[in-house]
Formats: sequence, structure tokens, C-alpha cells
Amino acid sequence: MSSPIRFETFEGEALFLDPRKDFQQTKESFHARVDPLTGRTGHFSHFGAIKPQRLDLDCYRRPEVKGFCPFCPEAREKVTPKFPEQVIAGGRARRNEALLIPNLFPYDVYSGVTIMADEHVVSLEGLSETRLTDAFALGVEFLKRVAAFDDAPPYPLITWNYMPPSGGGLVHPHQQCFATAYPGNQYMDELRASQRFYDAHHMNYWSALVEEEECIGKRHIGRLGGSHWLASFVSLGVLGEIMCVFPDLFSIHDFEETHLHELVSGLLRIFAFYRASDIYSFNGALFFGPSGQNCFSTHFRIIPRTFLNTRDFAPDPNFFQMLLSEPVSVVMPEDLCCGVKNYF
Ligand SMILES: [Zn+2]
Repeated sequence: MSSPIRFETFEGEALFLDPRKDFQQTKESFHARVDPLTGRTGHFSHFGAIKPQRLDLDCYRRPEVKGFCPFCPEAREKVTPKFPEQVIAGGRARRNEALLIPNLFPYDVYSGVTIMADEHVVSLEGLSETRLTDAFALGVEFLKRVAAFDDAPPYPLITWNYMPPSGGGLVHPHQQCFATAYPGNQYMDELRASQRFYDAHHMNYWSALVEEEECIGKRHIGRLGGSHWLASFVSLGVLGEIMCVFPDLFSIHDFEETHLHELVSGLLRIFAFYRASDIYSFNGALFFGPSGQNCFSTHFRIIPRTFLNTRDFAPDPNFFQMLLSEPVSVVMPEDLCCGVKNYF
């Protein structure tokens, strides 16, 4: 049976007289793709024009740059908040170095921050299996716990800004975990489209997606246990996007220790690829579907972030992302897949 998933691409070329070639006529290609689930589009152009910029991590350790950090062990106890006793007994939850506290600037009723390490500056290499497992485990435990409360919002998320190019306000590694009724337009578009796909085709889009991608082979990076790692057909990040799909998991309650290990194992491979590619910063988000459905699978997205240069620190989003709500990528997903595959 042929798959109902369609991968649509629109390619085009622009003609101009190129000053780099004595004003001879030159063609430059671009293309737009349509996300097979949501119908949202994304552009691909400027191929190779944006290179990830090296970050000087030692600079972030210098006292005049570091300033005051509320997440460093000497300040943490005094200046970070505690949960009410009924939410977390003792106010904060710990697992080795990882510490879960409430977000001082909450996104919703139950809004936590996980400080991932004692160290202020942790390189990608320092994001070890233990640190990653502990941080995600605290976030998942917290979200499972709040899901049982009567006033629990329906959509749980774990999000992560790593290093300043990602928009992270604090260098000290931390993740956000929160449940909300307003998980963002990307999440809601995916959720509604997953339901429509299920109603129309009587199958789960996410299972069909990984099956089709595995069959096509160009964007399927690998499989770790029940998790499938893909280069997204439409990249939300300028330097491409990798997605990890757990097709058989639907709500936070399905997510167990073994899935956590699969997620961490994949992330360690991606970080090895990032290190080799001079990528120092990223955004990540783990989407859990609401309870009581079987059409919206748990998935994780990760995109590299970079300054465009370290002369004037131009950020990587521009009018496209900010005002047109249109992602632009300078990396083709198929090329990204080839590069990352070596690490899986
Ligand atoms: Zn710190």
C-alpha cells in the first residue's frame, strides 16, 4: 500500500549578473518544501553561506563576563525558589547534580527549571550521559507528577536553550519543564493535523512517517530501540533540524526509563556530530501529547544555533522567522542525514 505521506518540494532559480564572475549570467537555486503533516512551508537557500561560529567558553568563566549566576551552587540555596510542599516535598527535587526548582518566571501553573550541573560552563563534551539522564528524568518525573493534579494543564513540554546563541539567558546549563494549555503554534498545528491524518487514513501519522522515511532512506538517520532519528523534511533551524520520534509513545505516562536512555543515547551521538561540526549551541524541545489519544506521538526536536558572526553577534533568525513565521535553512536535510549517520 502506498503511503499517504507526501513530500512536496518547489524548486526555483534566480538569474543575475554575478560581480564575482565578471558580471556573467549566473543561476542560484532555492527551494521551498511543505511539511507533510502541518502543511507549513520552509525555505532552503543560501546553501553553505552560514557557518557555525566557534564560541569561547573560557570567556563565559571570566568573572566580569559571568557576573552573578543564581544557578551556581554557592547562590542556589538562597536565591532560587522552592515549590509548595504539595507539588514537591521539600521544595526542590535532586538527582545527583541535577536540581529541579520552580521557574521564577513561570510559563504556566506548573513550571519548573532543571539546573543540570554544578559547573557554570559545561561544554558539549561535559553533557555526559549521567547529566543528561538526570536532568531529563527530573523533568519527566515532575511532569508525570503534575499530570495527576486536578488542575493539570494538558500539554507537557521539556525545553532547552543551550548557550547564548540559542537565546538562553544564563550560560549555566538548565532546561525548562512545564505543562500548559498553550504549548505553542507548532505543537497545536501538529496535534490538530495528527488528529486529521488519523481520521482520514485510520493510522498514526508518526508511525507512517518513520516507516516511509526508513523506506526512502535519505533522511532516516538511525533507530535506537523504539526511537527513530530523522533529519526533518522541513527544518525549523537555519543549520537543519534533527527529530527523534517515539511512534509508540503518546503521553508522558508512556515515557519510561528505557525511552529516556534511548533519547540520551541519540543525543550523545548528535553532540559528537555537533562537536565535529563546530556547533556550540542549540535549542531542543521534547513534545509529549495529551493523555487519552493515540495519534500524536512523543517526539524531540533539536536545532543548532549560532551567531552569524562574532564581529557584531548578529543572531541567526531574521525577518523570515520573526515576521513571516517561515523557517529558512542553509543545510539540506539529506546532507545533514549523511553527516549525522556516521555517529549512529
Ligand atoms: Zn552558574
